[in-house]
Amino acid sequence: MTGQLLNGRLLADKVRAQLLPPIADVVARRGRPPGLGVVLVGEDGPSVLYVRNKIRTATALGLVSRVVRLPQDIGQDALLAAIDALNADGAIDAFLLQLPLPKHLDAQQALARIAPHKDADALRPVAALGRDPDALVPCTPAGCLRLIEEVQPSLTGCHAVVVGRSQIVGQPMAQLLLARDCTVTICHRHTRDLPKHTRMADILVVAAGVPHLIGGADIQPGAVVIDVGIHRVEGPGGKNRLIGDVDTEAALQVARAITPVPGGVGPMTIAMLMHNAVRAARRTLR
Ligand code: NAD
Repeated sequence: MTGQLLNGRLLADKVRAQLLPPIADVVARRGRPPGLGVVLVGEDGPSVLYVRNKIRTATALGLVSRVVRLPQDIGQDALLAAIDALNADGAIDAFLLQLPLPKHLDAQQALARIAPHKDADALRPVAALGRDPDALVPCTPAGCLRLIEEVQPSLTGCHAVVVGRSQIVGQPMAQLLLARDCTVTICHRHTRDLPKHTRMADILVVAAGVPHLIGGADIQPGAVVIDVGIHRVEGPGGKNRLIGDVDTEAALQVARAITPVPGGVGPMTIAMLMHNAVRAARRTLR
């Protein structure tokens, strides 16, 4: 059996195209486009790159965007003041705090300071997730769900296994799948006999941050596999390449569908961030 590659770039194009009419509606009724803000602390290489991609996408869609760049050695109070300023900024509908923060800063306190209605990354407690149609949903799990639904529109009764329990990916992912009436297993670094669990999955979402943690033998034939992991490794000839938490080639021999790395979950995460910014702006129209 050869599985299908789930193209996140194509689906992200579709999601962005679907945002154009609601963006035009916001412009017509508010006299300005939806506004997306990003708080970036320091000069962390990957973070600078991620922020650049987010802003580029926002600009291409016609959103107003604002990057608040803060120095690496900023204090907690000054960071909170910058968040307060965006909370009060009438031109910014939603914003995010780019993680990770420098070690001396308290990320949880800073995240908790973001006004819930402007929380573009939706890093709130996950209990109600998937039940409130108006709530902003964390971008990466929301993108994963869209990818899954491309090949499995009804998830009722499916056994979903999520590897990873982070606040930003694993936990909200599990909650969203539960809200879609899946039976959900959450695995993490202390799980005994990980393959025993992953081999039972109809839907397998891997967000462990471990390169090629999952091989073909860990996957149930016919499963839908979503690979959230992203790692830069040295490939043949000393060239850098990106790989995921799943061995894609091996998985393709067993799975019904799998997201590639790159070109799977990553583009969908950014598309869903735009979706959240537009949704936040539309809520202010009521
Ligand atoms: P994290 O480090 O916060 O969490 C990793 C989770 O995996 C933890 O819950 C841990 O218990 C679990 N884990 C670690 N090793 C394990 C093992 N051997 N077996 C089972 N579980 C294990 O990471 P995160 O922020 O959730 O991100 C996970 C991966 O996804 C990273 O590679 C990250 O770069 C990537 N990521 C990609 C996107 C995207 O848009 N493509 C977005 C967010 C994160």
